[in-house]
Amino acid sequence: MAQVNRVGLVKKANVAELVFFSGTMDCGKSTLALQMDHNHRARGRGGVRFSCNDRAGDSTISSRLGLRTDAVEVLDSTDFWDEVVARRTNGLRVDYLICDEAQFYSPLQVEQLARVVDEMEVDVFAFGITSDFRTRLFPGSQRLIELADKVQVLQVEALCWCGRRATQNARTVDGIMVVEGDQVMVGDVAPQNTGDDTAHVEDTLPLETVPVQDTLPMDTAPAQVVGYETLCRRHYMRRVTAHAANLMAGEDQPLPFDIDACLWPGAGAVRRS
Ligand SMILES: [Zn+2]
Repeated sequence: MAQVNRVGLVKKANVAELVFFSGTMDCGKSTLALQMDHNHRARGRGGVRFSCNDRAGDSTISSRLGLRTDAVEVLDSTDFWDEVVARRTNGLRVDYLICDEAQFYSPLQVEQLARVVDEMEVDVFAFGITSDFRTRLFPGSQRLIELADKVQVLQVEALCWCGRRATQNARTVDGIMVVEGDQVMVGDVAPQNTGDDTAHVEDTLPLETVPVQDTLPMDTAPAQVVGYETLCRRHYMRRVTAHAANLMAGEDQPLPFDIDACLWPGAGAVRRS
């Protein structure tokens, strides 16, 4: 039964929701997460921000536009039910949770979020990318799609270097696109305190030197250049990143060069399925 509150907004009575805002990298998820947190806080609601493996470091939500705030880092041991109970026991108000980088949460943690919604009437707004650099769903994102009351695909579209809508997240290691490896590998660390638009462009180039920060156990962890780039499916399948396209463009090919005629080394290797 719907009711109208004091400011005239219609809200279903006492029905909390689990909402999953999904998209590729660079589609503004963290920006929206911070804006939503602000809006609810401004209306007097109490919330908790969570994140996991944010590009700017632990216990942080950062957006490409330069916004940044603190957050509770989600660990393997994190239990969302316990997190909410602990705060309420201490007299803190918890009306909603902002859950950024939710693709990194475990399926069990996503189920805890659903239970928090159903049994404690806490709204949960989860933000994450759906699929990894191999085009496979992250387990956390899969569970969110399965359980969420609403899945909203963000309308700000990330773009491939060619201008098409980017639907895939590609990983590069030492400048070369890879399609195998551990699912979670943090890279693409943007320069801090960059609020201008050029940072966004620079982010798409896989040239940021960062040590491999693998959250999974790994025998050897050599320093490699790990980057991420959004590509359209066509260029993902052909492994043509912006870097590769620039190399080919530098080979005296007439522009616009026919990218489909270009055989980038390894381009055929991804056609395995
Ligand atoms: Zn493309």
